[in-house]
Amino acid sequence: MNHAATNEHKTKFDIDKIRADFPALHQKVSGHDLVYLDNGASTQKPQQVIDTIKTYYERDNSNVHRGIHTLSQRATDHFEAARVTVQEFINAKTDNEIVFTSGTTESINLVANSFGRAFLSAGDEVLISAMEHHSNIVPWQLLEQQIGIKLVVAPIDKNGNFLLEEFKALLSPKTKLVAITQLSNALGTLTPIKEIIKAAQAVGAKTLIDGAQAIAHTVVDVQDLDCDFYAFSGHKIFAPTGIGVLYGKHDLLDQMPPYQGGGEMIKVVSFSGSTYNEVPHKFEAGTPNIAGVIGLAAGLRYVSEIGIENLAAHEQALLDYGTEKLKSIDGLKLIGEADAKASILSFQIEGVHASDLGTLLDHQGIAIRVGHHCAMPVMAFFGVDATARASLAFYNNFEDIDALVAAIEKAVDMLR
Ligand code: PMP
Repeated sequence: MNHAATNEHKTKFDIDKIRADFPALHQKVSGHDLVYLDNGASTQKPQQVIDTIKTYYERDNSNVHRGIHTLSQRATDHFEAARVTVQEFINAKTDNEIVFTSGTTESINLVANSFGRAFLSAGDEVLISAMEHHSNIVPWQLLEQQIGIKLVVAPIDKNGNFLLEEFKALLSPKTKLVAITQLSNALGTLTPIKEIIKAAQAVGAKTLIDGAQAIAHTVVDVQDLDCDFYAFSGHKIFAPTGIGVLYGKHDLLDQMPPYQGGGEMIKVVSFSGSTYNEVPHKFEAGTPNIAGVIGLAAGLRYVSEIGIENLAAHEQALLDYGTEKLKSIDGLKLIGEADAKASILSFQIEGVHASDLGTLLDHQGIAIRVGHHCAMPVMAFFGVDATARASLAFYNNFEDIDALVAAIEKAVDMLR
């Protein structure tokens, strides 16, 4: 395949201009031009995001909500405007459905500890899938130990497809929450999320979507999905670490008890008891990650300007090209070949340990991730302890894939 032609055909944006926006991409690693293919773990940040954070600290830095002075008001205005940017990005009905957290992990733990402890009881079932990230497994196991809920796991097939019929067969009136990833970080599987939500609703279960990976690769419209909760992290979508979002339907958030106690989440505090603030502030105890929130909004604006549909089409072309190229490598086996996939190429090479491969690729300037990807159960399902994973972002190009393939071939020659 002629990659230049494919690039031109599929990409509706100027990739060179885009790449110029990301300073971290333009550096040498081990004497080679960096090829950054670890976007599933964390993405690089465009200059626009970096500048927004810098300007905030240079001009507006102050605490939010409490201050009467100008800087505090400016910080509060930027902070609350960012909430509207998030609302618009995921098409939530109102901005008070957007709770700022430290990331997907905290968002899921918030649901487990607030919704879970208030509305679930012994014997109630939480249904997840066999390809969840640890952050969508362990919080439910903690609830299992603490209040006796039952964790039920929906199966996948040997290609990593989510098995919708088998999932439906596990649903029952006991299912109180369905918590599923929209895009598997270990396999790249896109789950049939709308059908999952519909089926869960039919038995009266609430739904929580782990959007940590999906948010940067697909259009997310929470009203169209009609999920109860949607969780994602800023750092996976070209924004800072330490900031994330929990979307929740307003009525549900309103009924849920606070997750943490402290400043900001209260109305009135006395020693005889306290009353709580309105949502979303009820869930945002303490001084928030103000710079992170403002940086998140800048990241979302950047992505919106390019258009998720446009970047997804480019990434799909890269994924198809990479899949074909990797498969031509002797002894390479893709782990995860679902019918619907995005952005992730997870693989093993016969006779080569993933961590040795990762090290040799780093020596050639190529950043990939090796390991269990915080998804040990799905690694066990495939009978492996680790994979090598190249994960794409829209600033990757076909040359990056060519460099990856050439570097793997070189590394394999050395290791075999
Ligand atoms: N779920 C999935 C599918 C992920 O890929 C990740 C991050 N690797 C998480 C949850 C957790 O995200 P964070 O570490 O940003 O909280």
